[in-house]
Amino acid sequence: MHKSGFVNIIGNPNVGKSTLMNALVGERLSIITSKAQTTRHRIMGIVNGEDFQIVYSDTPGILKPSYKLQESMMKFVRGALTDADIILYVTDTVEHTDRSAEILERIRLSGIRTIVVINKVDLTTPEALEALAETWRATLPGAEIVPVSALNNFNLQGLFDLILGHLPEGEAFYPKDSLTDKTLRFFASEIIREKIFLNYDKEVPYCTEIAIEEYRETPGLDRITATIYVARDSQKGIIIGHKGSMLKRVGTQAREEMEKFLGKKVFLQLFVKVNDDWRNNDRQLRRFGYEE
Ligand code: GDP
Ligand code: MG
Repeated sequence: MHKSGFVNIIGNPNVGKSTLMNALVGERLSIITSKAQTTRHRIMGIVNGEDFQIVYSDTPGILKPSYKLQESMMKFVRGALTDADIILYVTDTVEHTDRSAEILERIRLSGIRTIVVINKVDLTTPEALEALAETWRATLPGAEIVPVSALNNFNLQGLFDLILGHLPEGEAFYPKDSLTDKTLRFFASEIIREKIFLNYDKEVPYCTEIAIEEYRETPGLDRITATIYVARDSQKGIIIGHKGSMLKRVGTQAREEMEKFLGKKVFLQLFVKVNDDWRNNDRQLRRFGYEE
């Protein structure tokens, strides 16, 4: 018997959804930073076994949209609610549980099997964890509750076993050697975006998007040219930094991360351009891949 299914990871910003998916898949597919709204897309990570295929989806954190980019991010979240075989609702030991009432209601009404993953148990005590589990039992009575630490690899095997146990019978959805639905170009742009989230403060990372202009693969080396789009002239100056020092740092960090990801040398060229209103312009958003 072969099992297969979609296991969709949903939850508030910063609870560790991307960390969890990467740990379950064993690859660094989703970028991770300490800032909220790092993840903007739905990203699939596929785990294949002889007699199973689990298709995980990492999604943006639940939010109230205030510009079109965020509306599109929430579309990815709602989409992930409709096609799941199993929902992993991720919460952690530090967030308040009352924030995503609408999504929790949708989960209750969906009738989809749900596992509440309480992440970051490394930051709490057994007593506090038990009290938290109690409130989750009341919030989602039908759900199973699994405490983990995605960062420290605690109880991920237990979570995996539970998922596999609930996976429906069925054929594989994707070729058995596939790892994700996204392209190398996508991962290249995400890696640059991650380094921007890590190196700049305040609104700059949230006003930034990446376009890969060229991706040329050769046996020993990939040549990648990318443009960093920002919303304002002043942000262009911040991204570039004094005599180009900041852009150089981002470029070096991104190149090193790409080389690790690809297992080969990378030649990376970065440009910076201003693009006033890409976060609110449908055509621009489509160009950056924000559509269902
Ligand atoms: P997302 O926004 O839900 O995708 O969250 P991320 O995966 O980007 O993680 C947000 C922050 O939480 C990052 O700084 C992670 O390193 C941290 N984090 C994730 N899992 C754990 C965990 O198990 N324990 C602790 N202490 N931190 C974690
Ligand atoms: Mg994320």
